[in-house]
Amino acid sequence: MLYNKHMDKMEKIVALAKRRGFVYPTSEIYGGLSNSYDYGPVGAELLRNIRNIWWKEFINSREDMVGLDTQIILPQTWVASGHVGNFSDPFVEDLKTHKRYRADHLIEKYLVSGSKLIEDMNMKEINNFIKENKIKSPDGNDLSEVKSFNLLFETEIGAVTGEKSKVYLRGETAQGIFTNFKQVIDSTRVKLPFGIGNIGRSFRNEITTGQFIFRTLEFEQAEIEYFFDPENSDWEKLMTNWKESMFKFVTKTLGIKEENLRWRRHTDKERSHYSKDTYDLDYKFPFGWKELWGIAYRTDYDLKQHMLSSGKSLEYIDSTSGRKFIPHVIEPAVGVNRLFLMTLVDSYTEEKDRLFLKLDPRIAPYKVAVFPLLGNKEELIKKARGIYENLKPNYMASWDDRGNIGKRYAAQDEIGTPYCITVDFDTLKDNTVTVRDRDTAKQERVSIDKIEEFLQNKLQ
Ligand code: ATP
Repeated sequence: MLYNKHMDKMEKIVALAKRRGFVYPTSEIYGGLSNSYDYGPVGAELLRNIRNIWWKEFINSREDMVGLDTQIILPQTWVASGHVGNFSDPFVEDLKTHKRYRADHLIEKYLVSGSKLIEDMNMKEINNFIKENKIKSPDGNDLSEVKSFNLLFETEIGAVTGEKSKVYLRGETAQGIFTNFKQVIDSTRVKLPFGIGNIGRSFRNEITTGQFIFRTLEFEQAEIEYFFDPENSDWEKLMTNWKESMFKFVTKTLGIKEENLRWRRHTDKERSHYSKDTYDLDYKFPFGWKELWGIAYRTDYDLKQHMLSSGKSLEYIDSTSGRKFIPHVIEPAVGVNRLFLMTLVDSYTEEKDRLFLKLDPRIAPYKVAVFPLLGNKEELIKKARGIYENLKPNYMASWDDRGNIGKRYAAQDEIGTPYCITVDFDTLKDNTVTVRDRDTAKQERVSIDKIEEFLQNKLQ
């Protein structure tokens, strides 16, 4: 058996991810780096498929959306956006080992249900709670006072160090949208209401460890700013529409089970001061309900901040009335890597003595695998290679002629390949192959000249 019944689900997923080339600890030969991972050959495909399908659904298929691809290294932007001053997490240090922990995460499990929400507590309240409840570090040692820890990575450009050359790696992709807002209006035909999407790497100096790729130092964000005229649009309706689009993407496009999803509305205290309403779409990860995707009505806060800081007008002029105003925005923001982790968790299926990933075929890294029944029979190999080479340009096909057929099926099951084609001795007689379905493990004979048609019907 390839998996161990005694491991918990998350351990099994982490092991599978490494074993099959989805996710590796980064720089493992040098001892790795906490909260940092690389995506292997199969993982890179899954990640790319999720990213592309997001882009297709939210940018390419909609008339009211355009996309951007903006810089990682930014100057002044982060001061204006408030990130340099406020983008921080509370942390405590183990006074003996000097390991750092997110204070809010550490006390979460001590809060009895029905009592205060962690999201509503400020630094002082977290500090008092730790003292009153005599909370120790996970190693049993005393903890420092709660301090604030800025999440932005800062660096310098050019040869001279100092304030002038200080820059930041972006902590979110959204600010690249706001700083380009005017240029998009001036260079395209967009009209309110419209949205701008941006996908790319963001960087946060996260100290929480142990949740695999859920929270990493580098991650890929897919963010949208949907701009509208607050006088002519109903923000509550727009918010509802966006929530529906997000939910549809997760359940219908990515095929995630509805019972593992829930909406959580932020409380007044938890919500940022500029936000009028915020929801998290939470997924039930093996380590608990956690934010997958956030959506916030951010009013005109960001554009206003950048206007103040840059001295440039970021107003919109209504072409019919001539009215000049700052648009408001609704921001749906998701991490592509969190979507990736969710698809692994949700598709992970153990059935009798079988383990497979029930990935939606549209995002599965490989769509089809081709095998010769035996790896040492020239006629079988030749025939199978012909099928494989014919499919490869269009279907993301995988080839395997090692080991026995059972091992090959197991390997494809574990990376979620929906169909496996085997060329056997009957193929040489009647030109048909065995096609095996990942989810049912059922096999059927299909004529070689009908394989493409078969796949087209199944994979659409
Ligand atoms: P969290 O509360 O989990 O730290 P957040 O509320 O700070 O997240 P946002 O700033 O709203 O997150 O970012 C939008 C999305 O980006 C999140 O919903 C999540 O999917 C993703 N994200 C944020 N931080 C990370 C991270 N360190 N690693 C991976 N994904 C992240």
